[in-house]
Amino acid sequence: MRVAFLGLGIMGRPMAANLVKAGHEVAVWNRTPGKEPDGAQAASSAAEAAREAEVVWMCVADTAAVEQVLFGKSGVEEAVASGAVVVDSSTISPSATVQYAGRLRARGAEYVDAPITGSKLGAESGQLIFMAGGAEETLARLQPLFSAMGKAVFRMGDVGKGQSAKLAMNLMIALTYQGFAEGLTLATKLGVQADKLLELINATMVRSGVVDYKGPFVLRRDFSPNFPLRLMHKDIHLMLDAARELRVKLPGLETVEEIYEIATEEGQSDLDYAATIALLEKWAGVEVKGVPA
Ligand code: NAP
Repeated sequence: MRVAFLGLGIMGRPMAANLVKAGHEVAVWNRTPGKEPDGAQAASSAAEAAREAEVVWMCVADTAAVEQVLFGKSGVEEAVASGAVVVDSSTISPSATVQYAGRLRARGAEYVDAPITGSKLGAESGQLIFMAGGAEETLARLQPLFSAMGKAVFRMGDVGKGQSAKLAMNLMIALTYQGFAEGLTLATKLGVQADKLLELINATMVRSGVVDYKGPFVLRRDFSPNFPLRLMHKDIHLMLDAARELRVKLPGLETVEEIYEIATEEGQSDLDYAATIALLEKWAGVEVKGVPA
């Protein structure tokens, strides 16, 4: 298929590379040039990339970035072909998603929100999981592209429901990681070795995908960004905004948001969100470390 891929960050670049590898004709654009994967055609604007495309796929930072890429100067709206499908794999506001879909539908384009889970390793290995909102027939058209970048697609409902599901998923990831980090910090203060605790966790019902993924990074003290703290913080704000709109109370998340606020003030926003453990360690006067099994 002829695909335009817009946004070549931690996630977008390997996703576009996997589309090229699967034999699709891929035009790419990124706000900052020079990140094009081998075999992709570099475009000078989002509009130029979108002009000939059957599918326009985006993966950019946040709601403002998506709005800019779609409707800003030389944006997708100026050039998208009637009958094309615009897909967004960024994590953004569900209500803005519904608005953007309406504006693009007026131009004759279909819209699908398809945020992702699997982080950097999942994007590189083509093992992402997509949670999608959109018409069933449109998702069926996209299947070859989903298959090139991921291992599963879950249709959550109409446009906006992919983003809604993504916020619920990241809420659970943020709280699970916070529980893990607090448990490790207390255990270390009590004199239990972190790698021993991890072995125990993995043999019991406390085990989780979050612990599987983040545990080894924490033990190695590797906080290089897989999922940058600034992006999880952005998602926490999206969750709290949605909760406020619907009068839902999220007391655990409100507390975790304060941790992210302080971590940001302390200059950790470009590190992985796993770096939030450093604050707990500072307050406890310990450092969690160990050799991953
Ligand atoms: P990233 O490495 O920070 O990349 C962000 C991308 O957005 C870059 O290509 C950046 O362009 C572009 N961008 C930012 N502001 C823009 C603007 N105003 N106009 C146009 N482009 C703009 O982020 P990422 O990790 O790839 O994440 C991308 C999206 O996927 C986010 O919504 C994130 O929440 C979501 N996500 C990430 C992960 C993960 O583990 N990393 C997992 C699931 C979902 P420049 O290169 O010019 O800065």
